[in-house]
Amino acid sequence: MEHKAVFLDRDDTIIADPGYINDPAQVKLLPGVTTALKELHNLGFKLIVITNQSGIARGILSEQQLDAIHKRLKQLLSYESVYLDGIYYCPYHPEGTIAKYTKESDLRKPNSGMILKAAEEMKINLAKSWMIGDSDRDTLAGKTAGCKTILVQPSPSQAEIKYTAHNADFTASNMKEAVNIIKMHYRRDEKPVVTITLPVETPAAKPVIENKQQPPVPTIAIVEEQAKEPVAAEIKEPDEKIDSAHETDNKPEKHYLQEILHLLKAQQREKMFSDFSGLLLISGILQIIVVFLMVAAIWFVIRGNPQHSNSAYMCLNFATVTQLIVLTLYVMHQKR
Ligand SMILES: [Mg+2]
Repeated sequence: MEHKAVFLDRDDTIIADPGYINDPAQVKLLPGVTTALKELHNLGFKLIVITNQSGIARGILSEQQLDAIHKRLKQLLSYESVYLDGIYYCPYHPEGTIAKYTKESDLRKPNSGMILKAAEEMKINLAKSWMIGDSDRDTLAGKTAGCKTILVQPSPSQAEIKYTAHNADFTASNMKEAVNIIKMHYRRDEKPVVTITLPVETPAAKPVIENKQQPPVPTIAIVEEQAKEPVAAEIKEPDEKIDSAHETDNKPEKHYLQEILHLLKAQQREKMFSDFSGLLLISGILQIIVVFLMVAAIWFVIRGNPQHSNSAYMCLNFATVTQLIVLTLYVMHQKR
């Protein structure tokens, strides 16, 4: 099974960056990050931090210190019930001072090595994954790996000075906005898919309509909606065959597609008129009669004549009986 993930830059994306962090006490989560990460987790994304740590190559911090910093990061997130699925870091830099770490590396962003490594180890589908970061290095790494990318820029003026954002698919002012962008695409991508399978070898067989997520019978609306999605390619192909079938009647696809179209239109018409009921019509007419009888009864009472009093009682009796009939018809309609 393949997973989807959101790859996260660390500094100035999920934690504040005062320069090179070499002490766990310096780890401060940015506002709204825990809520944003929790939402991404609930959407089914793995949360993986991808961070350049050239400070190791420069001798500013050790791998042990970095490990302590990341333990503190995980601890702070765990206070809000947020858990990272992985942290990948690149300790290398071509201008380092520690020989062991002084070199070019495919792992170092803007290269996509860390993302590719994480994807391989955690079986992640990169086409369904995202990279969020605050610099072009992050978004370029994500794009090279095949992810959709979001550049988080604290304020437009600041971002304009620091970054060009030329390679980001989207920009957001903070993590909350970035998550909203992902949620918007998530909803679009998760729509139910309607596929039509046409038999090729057995023209006598009926076409099969499958709704992979929704059990109800598909409607015209569903078909039109899917036509905007990639699935449209599956439907478009037989549509073209319908046009050409005017010239070659030996193509059964034309007949099947027309049959499906008629069926869907009939279902839509049936649905449109399903709310109409003869019982409701009769009860409506009777209700008008009830109102008329009540008005008549009041009129007879106002006249004050004893003979008219009998008429008023008669009207009230008829009105009562008719009202009971109206209620009965209404209940029958509701139970249909
Ligand atoms: Mg950063």
